[in-house]
Amino acid sequence: MFFAEELASLKEHGLYRRLRMMDGPQEARVNIDGREILLFSSNNYLGFSTHPDVKASCIRAVEEFGTGSGGSRLTTGNMRLHRKLEEKVAGFKGAEDAIVFNTGYMTNLGAIAALMGKGDLIASDELNHASIIDGCRLSRAEIKVFAHSDVRDLRCVLAGASSYRRRLIVVDGVFSMDGDIAPLPLLLEIASEYNALLMVDDAHATGVLGRKGTGTVEYFGLKGKPESKAVIQMGTLSKAFGSEGGYVAGSRELIDYLRNKARSFIFSTAFSPGSAAAAIAAIEVLEREPQILQRLRLNINYLVEGLRRLGYRVEPTETAIIPVPIGDSKQALAMAAHLEELGIFVPAIRPPTVPEGTSRLRVTVMATHTTRDIDIALEAFKKAGKAQGLI
Ligand SMILES: *Cc1c(COP(=O)(O)O)cnc(C)c1O
Repeated sequence: MFFAEELASLKEHGLYRRLRMMDGPQEARVNIDGREILLFSSNNYLGFSTHPDVKASCIRAVEEFGTGSGGSRLTTGNMRLHRKLEEKVAGFKGAEDAIVFNTGYMTNLGAIAALMGKGDLIASDELNHASIIDGCRLSRAEIKVFAHSDVRDLRCVLAGASSYRRRLIVVDGVFSMDGDIAPLPLLLEIASEYNALLMVDDAHATGVLGRKGTGTVEYFGLKGKPESKAVIQMGTLSKAFGSEGGYVAGSRELIDYLRNKARSFIFSTAFSPGSAAAAIAAIEVLEREPQILQRLRLNINYLVEGLRRLGYRVEPTETAIIPVPIGDSKQALAMAAHLEELGIFVPAIRPPTVPEGTSRLRVTVMATHTTRDIDIALEAFKKAGKAQGLI
């Protein structure tokens, strides 16, 4: 069968992937495939998936509402907690209203395909997340990809776009493999100039960027300003918020429209009350204890500085994603393997995920890493880097 042939071909090209087994919760120290290891690749940026208040809230919700919601939101599955979560998200993002979906992936699929259709144009950043790409494809709009964060190229793509029925510019707020931030104010200007909608995917910005951790709009000082109303803010509840689900925050009309039009919202069972309660609790903890963001930022800076001191070409960053450029894909793999031997889990990112010759280690930092954890990681980077001839 073709399955076997395809699998053999994947193996031959070094693209075959296997699942790793995590035993226990997603914390700085995890048990992977039976061995304790320090995790530097989790999206659980604030450690909320194991926060006592978040866990307690989830457990209470299961006691009160059970495990499954039993129906889609528009039939019998709409529970008080779903609506409360949407109100919480809207307040947190400074938007009029919000809608939640079962995952971030389903959010992008449902929202983009509901907003755009045949005869429309989508301008999509070349480094956008797969869920955005799939949402664009599903919409059947014309897709034009522009060079990464290149506003000149975006203008080229939009030139003559007035012949389309509607236009949408869509970007990651924080790009998932590079950790850089989309130039939101410029994109807003361009969107207004070309009469286009602007959608930003804050999966890696929510709970990370901005003084209160509300994302890219706050980071650029636009939160609560009239301009921010023009931004369709998408994000996940599965990363910094330690739960699962995705959201879109925006105007009341936009959200009402999505409730009526987004197929991944309409034709899927509402997510479990426990997940909703966990996400609500996570937002409340962040609002109550914003100093946790300080801890995350200290950790990011400490690790970046340490890597730079060792001689790695790492750029200072405000996001929790720290790419360590290696270049050659085999060398990136060897580095990741060596780090793992030394007790540090950091994945190697290679083509086709990133362009040829730009393989890298993708390090992510959590607020729950201790200074000692980071020191241990730096020591491993020193040892492995020297052994691989990188530093
Ligand atoms: C993770 C991610 C998603 C998908 O979110 P899930 O909740 O994991 O489905 C969407 N967009 C970006 C940029 C992501 O990194």
